[in-house]
Amino acid sequence: MSRQTIKQSKRIVVKIGTNSLLDDNNQLNYRRIDRLAYVLSTLVQYKKEVILVTSGAIGVGCAQLNIAERPVAIPKQQAIASVGQVALMTVYDRFFGYYNQPVGQVLLTKDIIDFPESYINYQNSMNALLNNQIIPIINENDAVAVEEMDHHTRFGDNDTLSGMVARTTAADLLILLTDVDGFYSGNPQSDASAKRFKVLYEVTDELMEMAGDKGSTFSTGGMQTKLRAAKQLLIDQISTAIMSSHDPSDIFSLLDGYDIGTVFIPETKED
Ligand code: GLU
Repeated sequence: MSRQTIKQSKRIVVKIGTNSLLDDNNQLNYRRIDRLAYVLSTLVQYKKEVILVTSGAIGVGCAQLNIAERPVAIPKQQAIASVGQVALMTVYDRFFGYYNQPVGQVLLTKDIIDFPESYINYQNSMNALLNNQIIPIINENDAVAVEEMDHHTRFGDNDTLSGMVARTTAADLLILLTDVDGFYSGNPQSDASAKRFKVLYEVTDELMEMAGDKGSTFSTGGMQTKLRAAKQLLIDQISTAIMSSHDPSDIFSLLDGYDIGTVFIPETKED
């Protein structure tokens, strides 16, 4: 089965989740962040346009402030995110800086899709960054984006956010890095017959149900939000890959067309 479409991707959004950024002791996993910075910087050298969507503001904030558990109170979470976001960007800036790759922070709220003026400003900003070979590093602005009772101001999870970013920047490919190496028909740890889907051309209700089954995913963001993002992007002719964050160098193999993770490809684009 051809992965030609994946190989031809020029504008690529990469999303990494909190679990992938922290080690077992909830401290930043420097090795992984370094590998990620190396891979993404190299892709820019190869003339790809790269956007990074990162989670971790709250997770890293908890680590910075020695807080063992994420507090329930929203204002506390906001304060923690505000601290964590700075720590997160400092680390990215240092590692990308090692590879001489400039990065820029872009913190989004739902305003950018609710207000046309904000949307245009966001697009101008993204285009200016990409045109200058700068990697935009995006997160939700968790210090101010709060879900209110009847007015939803948040994207909520970064699978959804990164899907929106891929769509609004007319990207070719969204890569969702996570703690499992693809989308499986069951839980590969307990079910020997569970199979990794390699290439999918549509996201059916049946697949959504499989993703909903807790046994089929170990990732906190959940497989369903990933599949929902992929489904939405297929409509816009954008491909999605779900793959392990274990070794970010696998992104090179993915882009070389090798059998990595699960890819969702718009059928019309395949030969
Ligand atoms: N914006 C959240 C954070 O940085 C992450 C949301 C998610 O995990 O999907 O902590």
